[in-house]
Order: sequence, then structure tokens, then C-alpha cells
Amino acid sequence: MTSTAERYETTADEVQEVCQRAGRPVHDVTLVAVSKTVGLEEVEDAARAGAHNFGENRPDELMRKHDAFPEYRWHFIGNIQSRRIRDIVGRAVLIHSLYEAHHAQKIDEVAREQGIVQDVLLEVNVSGEASKSGLAPEDVPGMLALCESLEHVRVCGLMTMAPQGDLAVARATFRGLRELRDQLRETLPAAQAADFIELSMGMSEDWSIAIEEGSTIVRIGRAIFSADFA
Ligand SMILES: *Cc1c(COP(=O)(O)O)cnc(C)c1O
Repeated sequence: MTSTAERYETTADEVQEVCQRAGRPVHDVTLVAVSKTVGLEEVEDAARAGAHNFGENRPDELMRKHDAFPEYRWHFIGNIQSRRIRDIVGRAVLIHSLYEAHHAQKIDEVAREQGIVQDVLLEVNVSGEASKSGLAPEDVPGMLALCESLEHVRVCGLMTMAPQGDLAVARATFRGLRELRDQLRETLPAAQAADFIELSMGMSEDWSIAIEEGSTIVRIGRAIFSADFA
């Protein structure tokens, strides 16, 4: 039997090893512990083992856990609904899953009221799977141009989810996101390009490949919080 703390430590050690093997500085990669399936106690267990970035995909859970542990960094990785944006902005240090223009405008409006700039990532459907949400790669430049006009939204990079089950397909997806970021950076005004660095990609089954392909943020749930994950 392993505990949440042990699984977090093992995962964090493995992330460091994979960075070193890939020739990347370990500080390049942020480990987000996706706590969406667990409660406050497991969050505390992981935090005692060193976790300070956590990911949630539902506004209610984000609010509950953020309000219990405001000292940790909470990431919103779930589907955005207009009527819940007010609950997410300001609580999330980073919203990973923005892809609709009207959500960008609403985030800007709420962040303006709060007197903050909200950091976001644009979610991209690199693989083109019908079941996946996100912008088509060719629609990312238009969304970036819109976001540039919003003073209270800062786009820090891109996020994607790879199809599950085939690691070669996952690798191609991650590589595609990195290439898209690199191409777009060259076209952006200098100030916007300087912020546009993050690649949120890699989950329990494919995060090591994602790091090899340039991920700067891995989102790991089951490998940390599930005793059954092999
Ligand atoms: C649940 C979830 C994760 C974590 O997935 P695991 O396979 O449990 O590691 C990562 N990203 C998003 C967007 C998720 O919804």
C-alpha cells in the first residue's frame, strides 16, 4: 500500500529524472497535482510531501479547496461556463482551458472589476479528435489577437490533451503544440511574445513523453491520488 504522500514524492522525483534525461533544467517543468477526484485531506497529504500546485476542473471544487487552502496555487483545467467565470477568476492562478472568445471577454471584465490581470492558456485541439474541445490550430492567431486587446487577460501559452491509448499519437500531438507555440511566438509583438512560453501538456499516462517534447506544465491526477494507478 502506498500513500498519497509517497505517490507524490515518487512522481516529483520521476519528473526530475525525466527532465535530466531530456537535458532540461528541472525548474522548467511545473508539476500540477490534479486533485479533482479527492478531498481536502488528500490535498493536505500531497502538500506535506511538497505539492503546492493543484488542478481542479469544477468551479465548486475550486472554490471549496481554494478557500480551504488559499496559500496553494490553484489551476483551473476544466470546461468554462460563462455563469461560473466569476467564481474562477482570481482564485485560479492560471486558467488552462480558454478557447471561446466570449469567455475571454467575460474573464477580462471580471478581472478588471477585481483589479487583476488573469493569466490564461489557450486550449488547442491539436489532434483534431471530434470529442476534444479547444481551438483548431488555425484559429489560435485570431484568438491571440483578441486577447491582446484585453488589458486584464494575459495569455501565457497553450494547453492540449492528447488522445489516450497510443503514445506515438500522444508524442505527435505534444510536438505539434510545441511547434505551434514556437511559430506563433515569432509573429507576436515583443511584449506578448515574452509572456507566451508555457506548454501545459502531459497527464498520468503520457507526461514523460510530454516533457521530452517540451512541456512546461504537467497535469497529473491518478498517478498521485489513485492507489490503483499502475
Ligand atoms: C483529469 C485531468 C487531468 C489528470 O488526468 P490523469 O489521467 O488523472 O492524470 C489532466 N488534465 C485535465 C484537463 C483533466 O481533466
